[in-house]
Amino acid sequence: MECADGVLSLNVAQIVPCTEAEGPGRRFGLWFQGCPLRCPGCCNPEMLPFSGGQQLTMAEVFAQIADAQMRDGIEGITLLGGEPLAHARSGAVLARHARAHGLSVMIFSGYTLAEARRLPDPDVAELLARTDILVDGPYDREQPETKRRWIGSVNQQIHFLTDRYRADDPCWERRNTLEIRLQGMEVTINGFPARAAVGLWKRPTQQASRKGTR
Ligand code: SF4
Repeated sequence: MECADGVLSLNVAQIVPCTEAEGPGRRFGLWFQGCPLRCPGCCNPEMLPFSGGQQLTMAEVFAQIADAQMRDGIEGITLLGGEPLAHARSGAVLARHARAHGLSVMIFSGYTLAEARRLPDPDVAELLARTDILVDGPYDREQPETKRRWIGSVNQQIHFLTDRYRADDPCWERRNTLEIRLQGMEVTINGFPARAAVGLWKRPTQQASRKGTR
């Protein structure tokens, strides 16, 4: 998205500067606000509208990534949502920046890879070209994943689009994890969309939000 002054901005639902629940190693997680898909049992329904979220400039996000790289030693960024491919222009710029700084790029998308390659948007092609790992396909609450770490449902495929990561790395075989953060009066939860976490999110006495892996 471009602001009136031509500055590229992002519509962001949430940023977790350092997470180990959204892909290999320590990662900078960014959830876009807005998704055109409607997976039954969507794990992040508050991120479906394209309105809302926080408008951040690319420079502001670059600064947060630099901080995370220096402070936490992140090895990559993970883009989620919402739907990252619906924000492909911003995503492609972010991915190019990440790669230029030695960081890997992982995406969770509700589109399959074949569907993504058919989208008539050159920015999607550029984003995919700069992505190391794509986890594709809609989240299916009826088929929760219990074996592959970081994956929400068994129908979703992991595509290694570069040779930076390997399918036979044992890191993929560990149990899924959740991360719970308490900041002031707000509880944020990210990682595997466990029912227990959803229950916590719905408690009316707490201001809480959860950002699940699909
Ligand atoms: S699970 Fe993800 S891709 Fe599916 S509707 Fe929800 S935000 Fe969109």
